[in-house]
Amino acid sequence: MSGDWDLAIVGGGAAGLAAGIFAAEASRGQAHIVILEGSRRCGTKILASGGGRCNVTHEKVTPDDFNGSRNIVRNVLAAFGVEKTVEWFRSMGVELKREETGKLFPVTDSARTVLNALLERCRALDVHVQTNCRITGIRHGYELISPGESARARRVILATGGRSLPKSGSDGSGWDLARQLGHTVTKTYPALTPLVLAEGFLHAALSGISLDVELSTFAEGKLIDRRTGAMLFTHFGISGPAVMDASRHWVIASEEGRSPEMRCNLLPGMDFALAEKWLIASCGKRPKAGLATLLSQRLPERLAEHLLLHAGIEPRLPAGQLSREARRKLMHVLTALPLPVTGSRGWNYAEVTAGGVPLAEIDYRTMQSRKSPGLYLVGEILDCDGRIGGFNFQWAWATGYVGGRAAGEGL
Ligand SMILES: Cc1cc2nc3c(=O)[nH]c(=O)nc-3n(C[C@H](O)[C@H](O)[C@H](O)COP(=O)(O)OP(=O)(O)OC[C@H]3O[C@@H](n4cnc5c(N)ncnc54)[C@H](O)[C@@H]3O)c2cc1C
Repeated sequence: MSGDWDLAIVGGGAAGLAAGIFAAEASRGQAHIVILEGSRRCGTKILASGGGRCNVTHEKVTPDDFNGSRNIVRNVLAAFGVEKTVEWFRSMGVELKREETGKLFPVTDSARTVLNALLERCRALDVHVQTNCRITGIRHGYELISPGESARARRVILATGGRSLPKSGSDGSGWDLARQLGHTVTKTYPALTPLVLAEGFLHAALSGISLDVELSTFAEGKLIDRRTGAMLFTHFGISGPAVMDASRHWVIASEEGRSPEMRCNLLPGMDFALAEKWLIASCGKRPKAGLATLLSQRLPERLAEHLLLHAGIEPRLPAGQLSREARRKLMHVLTALPLPVTGSRGWNYAEVTAGGVPLAEIDYRTMQSRKSPGLYLVGEILDCDGRIGGFNFQWAWATGYVGGRAAGEGL
């Protein structure tokens, strides 16, 4: 990696590759640009994303989809929103299609298409890519150090990601580099991660069942998050979009010692009173039907059976014989089932990092550091994380665009 570069980009993930492309375009091919990637190939996380299909972005992206300074997120998205993302990928030969949920994927259903297009554009623009080059130190000026080697660069973009899926090469070492140049880093937490439930709870018997629920997270008794979406029971606990999105709130409250609790309404859209009214009416209409059969109008039958047992009710009990006390117990189970969360599945299963370099330490118009002129920060290294659905890649493309263009100009 030795040599003198106009611009060195540390990290060849989504944000680093985007930044390299936009910087090369902004410099009109005049600048010597290198991407220094620590692992043996660029874009490992792109290949792993969206179940190998890469959920590139979402049809509608707003600041509400992110946890991060609202004003800064809004400005960054205004510079490079969904339309520009779609057009940019089209210009690289990648057509995107919209799925029912609003998520956008490549029409090929292959993340490889996305990564290949980015690498091909880098090649066409003469952006040099060097893999197996882990940067371990950085000095003002800039001098980049890797074991046994060093290189100089007039400007540097840090695009080292966070700590999610560390085997992909994003092991958090980029935050040390940012610190060496005067930045702070907030406490970081695994986010968008499945949650583990206490052994012996219902989940193992229900593994594979997925349904829409309303999940509520409380800390010290106060509601801190509520959302509706799909939840999947697994052999270890719960997963699925609603759980992944809620996980950051549970994890942060837990690490802060704020005794988080999670409750699940298995009849979303109905509160206790409405749900009870529905059950009374259903029992009245079909008094001879078994309760599990009755509940299976709204829930998968296997789930209904286990929930009834959980409430201490025999699943085949005729609906007409349900006592008032048993019915109220059942309503609590159906509309506010306490989920005994014992922890998250951690960094190896998290899709993103909550926390990072504070957005206040960069100028959002350029992504330039307020601590070290000529340094830019893009992507997940920053303290901003999106919900599930393509929002984290949108952040990577948008910050890569803003930071890359600014870093490439005038070189
Ligand atoms: C399993 C999984 C699925 C996901 N699916 C989606 C999805 O479908 N849609 C979506 O929007 N988001 C998804 N995400 C999140 C998304 O992948 C990330 O938010 C995004 O990749 C962040 O981009 P980045 O370039 O900032 O960081 P990264 O993609 O993490 O790239 C950082 C790069 O920097 C390199 N690096 C780190 N430290 C150093 C160093 N010291 N020296 C040199 N190189 C270094 C790493 O090796 C890595 O290649 C998923 C994440 C995971 C883990």
